[in-house]
Amino acid sequence: GNGLMAGKRGLILGVANNRSIAWGIAKACANAGAELALTYQGDALKKRVEPLAEELGAIVAGHCDVTDMDSVDAVFKKLEKEWGRLDFLVHAVAFSDKDELTGRYVDTSRDNFLRSMDISVYSLTALAKRAEPLMSDGGSILTLTYYGAEKVMPHYNVMGVAKAALEASVRYLAVDLGGSNIRVNAISAGPIKTLAASGIGDFRYILRWNEYNSPLKRVVTTDEVGDSALYMLSHLSRGVTGEVLHVDSGYHVVGMKAVDAPDI
Ligand code: NAD
Repeated sequence: GNGLMAGKRGLILGVANNRSIAWGIAKACANAGAELALTYQGDALKKRVEPLAEELGAIVAGHCDVTDMDSVDAVFKKLEKEWGRLDFLVHAVAFSDKDELTGRYVDTSRDNFLRSMDISVYSLTALAKRAEPLMSDGGSILTLTYYGAEKVMPHYNVMGVAKAALEASVRYLAVDLGGSNIRVNAISAGPIKTLAASGIGDFRYILRWNEYNSPLKRVVTTDEVGDSALYMLSHLSRGVTGEVLHVDSGYHVVGMKAVDAPDI
């Protein structure tokens, strides 16, 4: 480890399995000396998260479903008891009914729109509000977003609208919490094959398209997102807030996507 995060304590939401972006971030933080707390969403994921937490010597802060504020409050109560303070928070949570991550955005249902916004957007604000009193020495809050917030991506639909609102939330929260020396930033990750991503229509096509058209000519890994997260969560980025950092092999700078993948 490099000791960059020594003495820092962080809560990470969004580990579902060892392919989760949150897991890449957790490994990078633990390797840099941070103490971690992980949560799981429901009993099905408990079995996966517990051994992963053990691997990193992390606390399991219990079940947390961001649509159930009692479960959110219980996590913060536990952290207050165990640690008394918090230095960083990672929000790697999003959800939409996968039937609406295909076809046209215009066909989004009101129910799924509200649910997607609740889980993928409001949750960051709810967590930030609860983290603020624990971040007595300042802190760093990080969320995960995607280029579909900025430009229309096939099938991303309601999630693109949610990510745009999430990125706006990052800016508003950065202003609200800046006076407490709490920074709020996002990483806009390139496409990675995770559980959540497998719900997106034609995801393999999106991966290949990114591979062929990004400046680095490849897709990114969860470990690469984890290393960039270290910058955002550590003192190295102490002058940075309200920012969206693209960790996408440079894909977002390319104006003219020229090369289609040969085998898709
Ligand atoms: P993942 O499936 O591993 O993680 C998604 C997590 O969200 C899971 O741990 C799940 O339990 C959690 N979640 C969903 N609904 C929840 C709820 N109601 N309460 C609490 N937790 C809930 O997938 P991932 O790709 O690692 O996703 C992490 C974040 O990264 C998401 O915000 C996603 O939009 C974002 N992201 C992913 C990609 C990609 O291509 N995979 C690209 C850019 C951004």
